[in-house]
Amino acid sequence: MHTLEIRDLVVALTETPDKPIVKGVSLTIKSGEVHAVMGPNGTGKSTLSKAVAGHPDYTITSGDVLLDGKSILEMEPDERARAGIFLAFQYPSEIPGVSIANFLRAALQARLGEGEDLDAVGYYKSLYAKMDMLKIDRKFTSRAVNEGFSGGEKKRCEILQMAMLEPSFALMDETDSGLDIDALKIVAEGVNQLRGPKLGVLLITHYQRLLNHIVPDHVHVMYDGRIVKSGDKTLALELEEKGYDWLKTETAAPA
Ligand code: ADP
Ligand code: MG
Ligand code: MG
Repeated sequence: MHTLEIRDLVVALTETPDKPIVKGVSLTIKSGEVHAVMGPNGTGKSTLSKAVAGHPDYTITSGDVLLDGKSILEMEPDERARAGIFLAFQYPSEIPGVSIANFLRAALQARLGEGEDLDAVGYYKSLYAKMDMLKIDRKFTSRAVNEGFSGGEKKRCEILQMAMLEPSFALMDETDSGLDIDALKIVAEGVNQLRGPKLGVLLITHYQRLLNHIVPDHVHVMYDGRIVKSGDKTLALELEEKGYDWLKTETAAPA
C-alpha cells in the first residue's frame, strides 16, 4: 500500500515565479484509487501534473509532494519514475528508428540500474503477455515510437509503457490531445485493465465523457488553480449537466 500526497502545492512558471498558476492544491492518492481531476481549460491541471513530474519549465514555490511520506521534490524526473511514479509526458514524443520493443526494454533496463541485467527471454514473455491482455497486435512493437502514430496508437503505446513499468502511481493528463472517441476508448480500456489494488491513478481530464468509461473513486474540480470541490463519481455527472460556469458563483469569496 502506497500513498502519494500533494500538499498545499503552489506552482508557477520558472520564468515568472511570482505569478502562481496552481494556487495551493492538496490531494492524497492511495494504491487502488482512481482520482479524476476535472476543470475548464486554463485552470492549471496540466501545470499540476507537470510540476509533480518535475518538468523544468515549472517551479514549485511552496508545498510538497510526498511518496510514502518522503518528499520527491529533490528527485530528478527519472528518479521519480524509478520510485514508481509514471508520467506519460515524460517519454519522448517521437524516436525515429527505435522500435517500441527496444524502447520499452531500455526503459525497463534503466529502471533496474547499472548492476542488474534485464533477462531478454523474460522480457519478451512479459511484453507479449501484457500485449495480449491489452489486445495489442504483435506487429505493433516493431514500429518506431510514435512515428506516424495516430492519436489512438500513441495512447496504446503509452498504456503499454505503463503496463510494462508497473508503476505505483500513474499521472495521466488527457486534456490537450484532442482525443477522438477511439483513442478515449483505448485509454479507458487500458486503465480499466491495469487498475487494481497496487495502482493509484491521477486522471486529469477535460472530458466528462472519459469518466463514463473509467469510473473514478474520487472526483476533484479544479478552478483558477485550486480544487474547489471534491466528491465521488456523481460529481462528474453533475458537471456534465451544469457545466463549469456555476463554479464561478459558488466559489466567489463572500464579501
Ligand atoms: P489546463 O491544463 O487546466 O488547461 P494549464 O496548466 O495548461 O491549464 O495552464 C494554466 C495556465 O497557465 C494558463 O493560463 C496557461 O496559459 C498558463 N501556462 C501553463 N503553462 C505555460 C507555459 N509553459 N507558458 C506560458 N503559460 C503557461
Ligand atoms: Mg489546457
Ligand atoms: Mg491541460
